[in-house]
Amino acid sequence: MEAPGRQVVIAEETEAWMERAVNMAKKALENGEVPVGCLMVYNREVIGKGKNEVNKTKNATRHAEMVAIDQVIDWCHQHKKDPEEVFGHSVLYVTVEPCIMCAAALRIMKIPLVVYGCQNERFGGCGSVLDISSPILTDTGEPFQCMAGYRSEEAVEMLKTFYRQENPNAPKSKVRKKECVK
Ligand SMILES: [Zn+2]
Repeated sequence: MEAPGRQVVIAEETEAWMERAVNMAKKALENGEVPVGCLMVYNREVIGKGKNEVNKTKNATRHAEMVAIDQVIDWCHQHKKDPEEVFGHSVLYVTVEPCIMCAAALRIMKIPLVVYGCQNERFGGCGSVLDISSPILTDTGEPFQCMAGYRSEEAVEMLKTFYRQENPNAPKSKVRKKECVK
């Protein structure tokens, strides 16, 4: 018996959605953002998508998932749909394990399933640092199911590239290092 609201994921489609999420992460990396991309899929249609926009917006909460959630809410308004019903039957495809903040937001929005690429060792909210997706938390939203490991090698590579750029030993950061030393 399938639990109510449980989403059936078709392997070939998952590949296609994750391909698009990876391409969004690539764009984020090109823009000097943490390379995370995601899509929110409802009835086999992308109704929201996002990439990390923290630096562009100078707003630390503008993670890919938060951008996508806002787009889904806009889509619901435009199509006169009930957000609770829509989120309750949507799947999130994201290149990196959602962080603690985003995992909590996904719980509150009652998204039943998250398909993701690599682990988020710094901030992961689906087991790496905390398990916000878990059924153990009872007072906030709904627990959600996770399927990990799709296109994870590419997702990790992009994160490594990004954090290398931030490394003071990397060529790009030499200026900053100089400023600090004075
Ligand atoms: Zn996040």
